[in-house]
Amino acid sequence: MPAAQHAKLLEPLNLGFTTLKNRVIMGSMHTGLEEEDPAKLAAFFARRAQGDVGLMITGGFATSETAVLWPGAGRMTSEADALRHRTVTDAVHAAGGKIAIQLLHAGRQAYNVNMVSASAKQSPIFPFTPRALTAEEIEQEIDGFASAAGYAKMAGYDGVEVMGSEGYLLNQFLTERGNERTDEWGGTFEKRMRFPLEVVRRIRAKVGAEFIIVYRMSMLDLVPDGQSLEETLILARELEKAGVTILNTGIGWHEAKIPTIATQVPRGAFTWATRKIKEVVSIPVAASNRLNMPDDAERVLQNGDADMIAMARPFLADPDWVLKTKEARVNEINTCIGCNQACLDHTFGGKRCSCLVNPQACHETELVFVKTPARKKIAVVGAGPAGMSFSLTAAQRGHAVTLFDASPEIGGQFNIAKQVPGKEEFHETIRYFNTMLNKEGVQLKLGQRISADDLKDFDEVVLATGIIPNVPSLPGVDHPKVMGYLDVLKHGKPVGQRVAIVGGGGIGVDTAEFLTHHGSEQSPSTSIEDFCEFWGIDREQKARGGIAGVKAQPEAATRQITILQRKPKKIAGPGKTTGWIHRAALEAKGVRLMSGVEYIGVEDAGLRIRTPDGAEHLLEVDNVIVCAGQHPNRELEESVLAMGKPLHIIGGAFKAAELDAKEAINQGARLAATV
Ligand code: FAD
Ligand code: NAP
Ligand code: SF4
Repeated sequence: MPAAQHAKLLEPLNLGFTTLKNRVIMGSMHTGLEEEDPAKLAAFFARRAQGDVGLMITGGFATSETAVLWPGAGRMTSEADALRHRTVTDAVHAAGGKIAIQLLHAGRQAYNVNMVSASAKQSPIFPFTPRALTAEEIEQEIDGFASAAGYAKMAGYDGVEVMGSEGYLLNQFLTERGNERTDEWGGTFEKRMRFPLEVVRRIRAKVGAEFIIVYRMSMLDLVPDGQSLEETLILARELEKAGVTILNTGIGWHEAKIPTIATQVPRGAFTWATRKIKEVVSIPVAASNRLNMPDDAERVLQNGDADMIAMARPFLADPDWVLKTKEARVNEINTCIGCNQACLDHTFGGKRCSCLVNPQACHETELVFVKTPARKKIAVVGAGPAGMSFSLTAAQRGHAVTLFDASPEIGGQFNIAKQVPGKEEFHETIRYFNTMLNKEGVQLKLGQRISADDLKDFDEVVLATGIIPNVPSLPGVDHPKVMGYLDVLKHGKPVGQRVAIVGGGGIGVDTAEFLTHHGSEQSPSTSIEDFCEFWGIDREQKARGGIAGVKAQPEAATRQITILQRKPKKIAGPGKTTGWIHRAALEAKGVRLMSGVEYIGVEDAGLRIRTPDGAEHLLEVDNVIVCAGQHPNRELEESVLAMGKPLHIIGGAFKAAELDAKEAINQGARLAATV
């Protein structure tokens, strides 16, 4: 029986010719496994099928040679491709799941010198200018979609998803932004819409009536000269007539200057846009973007914004998301925190995806946890991400684990991070570990600082004692106006109105974010209204693309804040795909970012620096907050070694420089797989 409070989410969906187990779609993600041994992709999807998700969609596969995202990218253009995918579909079906393949034509959004588009207009975020397709080539590209769908059917897929959002070729045809044609494929909206409609019609003709066609539609382009609301509604109705089975939501082109999935985006921030489409069609419509927990998903369905929920990253974080919901074990869900650190940042860095909170994601065949034949008594000192991760996996493998922390709660630095506006999701990771450590019988010994003496009765010891913040050797560093970031974020010491932050890494940026919000009632990351206002999103969609035209200015920050660093590069926080969001948000709030500076010293009047032009400046500030990195806390290492016990050191205690939670959790899990 479905858990009553998530009844709508878990309700089967009858599509006429087939029935989906529930209303949950695992959305498309390019994980990097697409170009590897198909057995790895098969294991990835089979694991999620075991978790009971209703319908899964693969990462994008190109429909022609010109459609690729980059020259070596996966494609579905031949019988040989179809045969290779059999491994994936067989594994999914054997696990009781259903899977559709996403068909993608990147158009001008590609790293491909041979790229094509509706018109020869370059994307602002890609290096090459596309060639405009001729009318004859347009016909060939449409046929490419249809034959790719035919190969998908041959491969055993249950359906296809046509990628019609995020600014790819179909959007380029649909909008004045990408389409300046004056022939039968451009000009009026009716002509601009011909390309996607023909794609769907020819796919339907090719695959017959009993095959799922999902169309991922851009509900909101979030770029100038994007689609108008009226055009979006017309397109939705026409897509239904053309033979689409399910409409899925896409929000924002890749070139949009508004965050759409990062953790700063409130949960369910865009379901109002999906609702407008649902109201004009009779086929099921799926909402997406920053939905990561069952209560929110159920609310979206109950309030009528959508018929289904599409989530992608939450299935990297937890393949059993649906199963746990069904079995009323929501507290056991390992929640996607929207950080992008191991998924999108990896993809854009040319690396295989994984997940910060679940290092097994996309490594199902490589990081395997087996029951131990020899149960050991293991002491873990430090219940930060590294210690929690190790303890949980070691206990799941059958070891007797005791986890110590000086603090009265588990979480380590996550307890500091969770207070930063935009990082509220860190609460979920702590909740997950609390639930699971208890469930797996890990003995928690909190609120006591441990010395080697406390570790005598254990077979092995793991030090996960984290870090100690650096204090730079700066003249005047002991001046009363100098504080550490822990004084601000952990100990709540009062901070003046004029602040200089020494260090522009992740913690410097977070400290500035905290100080710009401090005292305000709500953070934009928890209020959809505030978020839309801050980023200039026009919920009435009066303007094309749904952007308000002029970016709405937030209330000026009450503090004057300057972040400084010595390196000449831009201050942006660490994330490859999120740095620009931090920079834009801080600049909008008047935070000054200064790179390439030299620190001369702290004095009564403030912080004296030298800028790259050699000039000396006094920043007249009330406080100087030091966020200058960390070094390992190894205070117990020597005494534990002296006891002659096997000792392992992980997380910040092992290496503090460049250590983040992704690496800490990964190290914990990998060590636990081997002890
Ligand atoms: P810690 O989290 O430091 O945990 C160590 C634990 O050991 C502590 O709880 C401490 O009390 C305990 N301990 C130490 N000595 C003893 C002892 N003798 N006895 C008992 N207990 C002891 N990382 C990211 O990847 N993404 C982010 O967005 C991010 N944001 C951050 C924001 C802020 C404001 C901060 C401060 C950090 C952020 N980090 C982020 C960094 C991340 O939190 C750390 O990399 C991670 O916590 C390191 O994990 P750890 O387990 O090694 O150590
Ligand atoms: P960090 O990213 O290494 O940044 C340290 C900053 O301090 C740098 O800007 C550095 O710049 C400066 N610095 C270093 N030594 C200094 C010195 N002697 N004097 C003055 N300045 C000095 O470390 P962090 O900000 O403390 O973050 C710790 C870890 O947590 C990092 O791995 C980070 O990725 C992670 N984290 C991630 C996020 C996220 O959102 N993903 C958020 C917070 C933290 P210069 O040397 O150029 O001056
Ligand atoms: Fe979610 Fe972060 Fe994992 Fe990506 S890396 S799936 S954003 S928790």
